Amino acid sequence: MTDDVREELGGVVRGAQALLGTLQAFGLREASPGVLAAPASGAAPVQPALFAPAAPGPEGGPEAGLQALRQELGECTRCKLHRKRRHIVFGEGDARARLLVAGEGPGADEDRSGRPFVGEAGQLLERILAAMGLGRERVYICNVVKCRPPSNRQPEEDEVATCAPFLERQIEIIRPSHILCLGATAARRLIGLEGPLGKVRGRFHDHPSGARVMPTYHPAYLLRNPLDKKLVWDDVKQVMAELGLSAEGAKR
Ligand code: SF4
Repeated sequence: MTDDVREELGGVVRGAQALLGTLQAFGLREASPGVLAAPASGAAPVQPALFAPAAPGPEGGPEAGLQALRQELGECTRCKLHRKRRHIVFGEGDARARLLVAGEGPGADEDRSGRPFVGEAGQLLERILAAMGLGRERVYICNVVKCRPPSNRQPEEDEVATCAPFLERQIEIIRPSHILCLGATAARRLIGLEGPLGKVRGRFHDHPSGARVMPTYHPAYLLRNPLDKKLVWDDVKQVMAELGLSAEGAKR
């Protein structure tokens, strides 16, 4: 075997190992012990320095701010999505999180439970967060629209225009340093995406709040297109780098 062939084979093996690590991290294959393995269940990694409390706002801190915003939303009938919803899915998590995760809107499981990202896509999001060394309680998770669009259709322009100001106020209250923006609907609202998500994913964009926005594919899309998990992992690794997280840290 010539040196050239040996070198080429070495590159193929290294590429395959990197892909395997990604697949394991998102649970596509049985994870084996390694730097990308998700943390053991119930053992959320502790990142006290990363998620140290933000300076309290003038009205009693972000927890009180979110509570007041939820009250203001009330049993909202501001747009037509209220007609078929069971529950408003406001959002949940750490009101002082540095990472906010924004999706499109609730699905059937979320509509039933009133909680964001609890269905199959939510379980995949949890695996992505676990691969980052985070439990879902350490970030804040919400959506552009708070009520389920019928048959899981995309929210329409008027619905987004009516509901998204509540997402923007959640961002103002929480003041995350980073936003993981899941899917095209969230990217259109948060960074003014025009065209396909592939145009903007993979690099940071500035949000008017000062947060760094990383657009990437929605977990529901990944369930249909599992090969693109590698692209999401590439995006997520950039967020981890800026937050000082490492896959190695997920083991500690
Ligand atoms: S989607 Fe938003 S604006 Fe529309 S009814 Fe629900 S909470 Fe209100």
